[in-house]
Amino acid sequence: MSRHVGVLGAGVTGISSAILLQRAGYLVTIIAKDFPAGFETIDPVTQINYTSPWGGAHNRWVPPHPSNPQSVFEHPLSTTTFSHMKSLFTSHPKTAGITFLKGIEYLESPGPEYQSLTPAKAAELNLPGFRLLSPDEFPDSKVTWGCEYETYCVNPMVYLSFLLRRFVHRGGRIHKHTLRSPVEIFSLSQPVLKNGQVDAVVDASGNGFGDDANMFITRGQTVLVAEECDATVTRQNADGSWTFCVPRGFEGGTVIGGTKEVDDWECSPRLETRERLLKMFAGTYPKILGGKGRMTVMADIVGRRPSRKGGPRIEGEVVGLGGGEEEEKKGFVMHAYGLGGRGYELSWGVAERVVEGVEGWFSCARRDATATLLGTLDQEGL
Ligand SMILES: Cc1cc2nc3c(=O)[nH]c(=O)nc-3n(C[C@H](O)[C@H](O)[C@H](O)COP(=O)(O)OP(=O)(O)OC[C@H]3O[C@@H](n4cnc5c(N)ncnc54)[C@H](O)[C@@H]3O)c2cc1C
Repeated sequence: MSRHVGVLGAGVTGISSAILLQRAGYLVTIIAKDFPAGFETIDPVTQINYTSPWGGAHNRWVPPHPSNPQSVFEHPLSTTTFSHMKSLFTSHPKTAGITFLKGIEYLESPGPEYQSLTPAKAAELNLPGFRLLSPDEFPDSKVTWGCEYETYCVNPMVYLSFLLRRFVHRGGRIHKHTLRSPVEIFSLSQPVLKNGQVDAVVDASGNGFGDDANMFITRGQTVLVAEECDATVTRQNADGSWTFCVPRGFEGGTVIGGTKEVDDWECSPRLETRERLLKMFAGTYPKILGGKGRMTVMADIVGRRPSRKGGPRIEGEVVGLGGGEEEEKKGFVMHAYGLGGRGYELSWGVAERVVEGVEGWFSCARRDATATLLGTLDQEGL
């Protein structure tokens, strides 16, 4: 009989991991407090810590560079994700919630990772459609470096609803539940979990469970406007601020961003921020206005990126499950949280690591079981 894996979390990390675990042949149940739904119905206050609805979400290449070890770790995850997105888009162009389009970058003060990014280097890094822009293509004289490439955007709730539907259609189970710890999942059984007790757990909780001192939040305020845009455009200013747009497609409008405010817990949008974001983006990419004086605001968005010092935690942990008088039982939790501002663009790469971790644990457990059996046979002199 197949092993049963419980995935804690129904954001982009949990659902992508659940799908790849299912594909690898496991019975999978997703257990979470929040699940994807129509974007219009997700509550901006009570569900603010469910980050996936509030993401853009676009893929921006972050060139890996030795000066930034996290970028070196994450780059292969982003190229793996790109391939999965391309294949999903090709097979389900009208339903998956994915749009392939041009990505444009403008930088006022590029660091070494951009300055060393030549077309040859971009080809080596698997950045499709890469082209350096010439200065006459820059929006103004403050921009000193620019490029374009092929990329994708997702409409988060269209995309995650599509993935969740596929998961359930293929036999996956879901269960709405609030947990105190990932370890608690080992104690759930029938009738709560239709497939019975789990053999391993994936912690895709976004933030971890408050016992990880490296976690912090990065508040992001963006504006959803009705205008469409032909590219996802990002500008990094010399003062550290950003302006960008993420066309969500599928009649989801375009996200104009955005702020990155460390440890800022304010959940209401700031109106002066909205005005600044709209002005900055229109100044950089006036095409979005379509000749009008102002964009049509549909909603303000505030989200909390689940950031982590040193990068995401993608690692397995053997946990004690108690055992009363008997020897303590052990369980395996595969952590996959702390994806910060890159949860979508790293999602399939992270999911592949999750499957590797779970498979590694089961093969160790099989080896141990075989060793115990052989030991028993030996002792019994058989
Ligand atoms: C403004 C903004 C813009 C962004 N733009 C982009 C972008 O352009 N590209 C990109 O790749 N990323 C972007 N991000 C980041 C991206 O949205 C996140 O990295 C991603 O959504 C994290 O997903 P996750 O599945 O790890 O966590 P979450 O989406 O937070 O999901 C966590 C899941 O765990 C469940 N859970 C947590 N605790 C418990 C508990 N105690 N009991 C039961 N269930 C629990 C939740 O209910 C939920 O289902 C952006 C984020 C913000 C805020």
